Amino acid sequence: MAGSLRIWPPERSKLAALYYLGSGPEICASDQILYLGAASGTTVSFIADYAGVIYAVEIAPEPLVMLLEVCNIKKNIIPIPADAALPLTYAPLVSRVDLLYQDIAQKEQVKIVLKNLFFLKPGGSLILMLKTRSVASQQEPEEICSNAVSELLNAGLAEIKVTWLNKYHRDHAAIICKKLEK
Ligand code: SAM
Repeated sequence: MAGSLRIWPPERSKLAALYYLGSGPEICASDQILYLGAASGTTVSFIADYAGVIYAVEIAPEPLVMLLEVCNIKKNIIPIPADAALPLTYAPLVSRVDLLYQDIAQKEQVKIVLKNLFFLKPGGSLILMLKTRSVASQQEPEEICSNAVSELLNAGLAEIKVTWLNKYHRDHAAIICKKLEK
């Protein structure tokens, strides 16, 4: 992959979709990133071209096999086979990060990301790819998103910006916010 250009399709990656919609974050070569829900490493492999270190947490064994193959090529990805709902199990492996990114299709998506907030440096950014249908299939996506935003605000996060990814990923919202400087 080194030295070749790859197409990053917005239909295959919520982060790519966010960039296509003009709201993607700036990622710097020095950035440390904690990525929850790495799956087989599709999006992680693209971020690895721009970031310093990516701690890639994934719970399911099957995608982990492919993620490990990606890690063999991209040496700045640290694979962590773990449950993101249990951050203390991998806390010794992860340093404080500039960006906390979560793409996990679970009912408790917001609770899981908040449990991992202590990894984020003050001033750092959080991106939550909210799959509203996983939270509640019968509730309106806008209402689910608005509840998620309230929870993030209550947890002390600020500068919250919501971008709906419906053009590429139905009923998904990208929620971007900041952890305040102390
Ligand atoms: N972010 C990936 C990408 O763009 O390439 C796709 C992620 S996929 C939508 C969600 C992933 O989250 C799945 O691989 C799933 O196994 C993982 N996952 C679900 N619950 C998890 C948990 N509690 N801890 C860690 N990973 C989890």
